[in-house]
Amino acid sequence: MAIDVKNLNYYYGDIPALKDLSFSVTKGDFFIIIGPNGSGKTTLMKLMAGILKPKKGRLKILNRAIGNYTRKDLAKTMAFVPQIMPVDFPFSVIEVVLMGRSPYMGMLGVEQEEDLKIAEQALTFTGVAHLAHRKLDQLSGGEQQRVFIARALCQEPDIILLDEPTASLDLAHQIRLMDLMEKLKKETGITVVMVSHDVNLAAMYCDRLLLLNKGEILCLGHPDEVLTFRTLEAAYGCTLLVDESPLGKIPRITPVPHKYLDHHQKG
Ligand code: ADP
Ligand code: MG
Repeated sequence: MAIDVKNLNYYYGDIPALKDLSFSVTKGDFFIIIGPNGSGKTTLMKLMAGILKPKKGRLKILNRAIGNYTRKDLAKTMAFVPQIMPVDFPFSVIEVVLMGRSPYMGMLGVEQEEDLKIAEQALTFTGVAHLAHRKLDQLSGGEQQRVFIARALCQEPDIILLDEPTASLDLAHQIRLMDLMEKLKKETGITVVMVSHDVNLAAMYCDRLLLLNKGEILCLGHPDEVLTFRTLEAAYGCTLLVDESPLGKIPRITPVPHKYLDHHQKG
């Protein structure tokens, strides 16, 4: 197992955010977490990334309790691309990406030839090598996103966690990013765990889908099992149509705008 979660609980003060979650993520899977706003997706990501500590329950990363990792070892095992990144620091792209090498550097933190090579490969892989010497705060949101993913890849992790990476991307970049993650998974066997709001993108790429609702697991399984009218309506509380994508046996979700409701209900 890449990640194994058992009876995991988290609360902020006395407000519960995650209630007794148990699930596991198989090695090499593309695992996507969906759910309404405030359902606990980011909290779960931060727990898996080791940024928050479970209040109750246990969390294993590659069959080892997360608490038994040193910071450095955890950074070599797992990379986290958070939802919101501070972008107002005046570093160049290559400097930011090289930060991903820090768990491998010695006491002085001096990068070697090898580190530079890995950083350049990561930039090429995410398609931003041409921006290497630009300042990060002068890039678009989508370009910054790809730089942060390159930094995560520089950690040479077994698992990459991404919190809503497609949220600020246009259609082409959304597909490019998802294709990139799929390619990464296929070529390197890395486990990809992603939070996404886009149920249609999730349906097209994920091996398994976790639907969170109010801090609990509403459904976990293959997209066919999770993306049903019944589960989606229970989670999102709005009218949705579920049919099949023109691409094949993939569920397609259409939320129904209010002005079409009558028509839809009549028809
Ligand atoms: P999601 O990412 O699914 O939108 P979050 O994990 O960010 O959800 O939040 C889950 C719940 O925990 C929400 O009700 C949110 O208001 C609450 N929450 C998140 N972060 C904090 C915090 N730092 N302090 C207090 N409550 C928080
Ligand atoms: Mg969130």
